[in-house]
Amino acid sequence: MSCEIEISGLIKTFGDNTVLNGIDLCLTPGERVAIIGPSGTGKSTLLRCLNFLDRPDAGRITLGDLTVDAARADKPEILALRRRTGFVFQNYALFANMTARQNIMEGLTTVRGWTPEKARARADEILGQIGLGDRGDSYPSGMSGGQQQRVGIGRAMALDAELMLFDEPTSALDPEWVGEVLDLIRKIADGRQTMLIVTHEMQFAREIADRVIFMEGGRIVEQGPPSQIFGNAQDDRTRAFLRRVG
Ligand code: ADP
Ligand code: MG
Repeated sequence: MSCEIEISGLIKTFGDNTVLNGIDLCLTPGERVAIIGPSGTGKSTLLRCLNFLDRPDAGRITLGDLTVDAARADKPEILALRRRTGFVFQNYALFANMTARQNIMEGLTTVRGWTPEKARARADEILGQIGLGDRGDSYPSGMSGGQQQRVGIGRAMALDAELMLFDEPTSALDPEWVGEVLDLIRKIADGRQTMLIVTHEMQFAREIADRVIFMEGGRIVEQGPPSQIFGNAQDDRTRAFLRRVG
């Protein structure tokens, strides 16, 4: 099958620290890919580069009919890319001075240019889907971590993005809230939303991913179906990592 999303030769350095060392990746439509690997390995940077939250030094990102060359990307291209990707942050990154509904509306009015009325209707629909139909007027400070992250996910869902990026969406949560957030992501995955999810929840990755990528040192070391990575990893580094976290 052809690539819906294609990443080639992605490189990112911070000073003399090369964090992404030439990442190549092809996602087919509806593919759900989990990224695992030690901390400091460039997993977050990879996701952030795909959305130009960090600007890659080199490489090319193709999303459907849009191709962005990192070295030459201008503002309209970057905005076009952002319109087509949804990002879920580890620490929710909600606007503290906005209600749950306003947080979900924000991207629709600013990035999408929707009218407030249309954005509000969509936000209310999303609030229902994330199980927070009665919490639209709540501020983040009045919600549990699990509810806040569900709003963070709802904000990304509202964009109807071709690609959803999840960066360790449960790692900042108290254990009691992890389940409800994983349930919501599972629901999105069941809808065959194309996604890249960085996670330390190995059981969850095994369950929802079509493909698991093990990254170390800014490179993709090994990738394959969950059964292969978790059951029969070929690379010593993958096996050592899985022993440590397992
Ligand atoms: P991971 O998500 O796999 O834990 P990161 O992508 O967060 O790894 O970080 C990879 C490396 O990039 C680390 O060495 C980190 O210190 C460095 N890094 C990340 N962001 C920045 C930044 N904004 N400035 C400088 N160094 C950074
Ligand atoms: Mg990270």
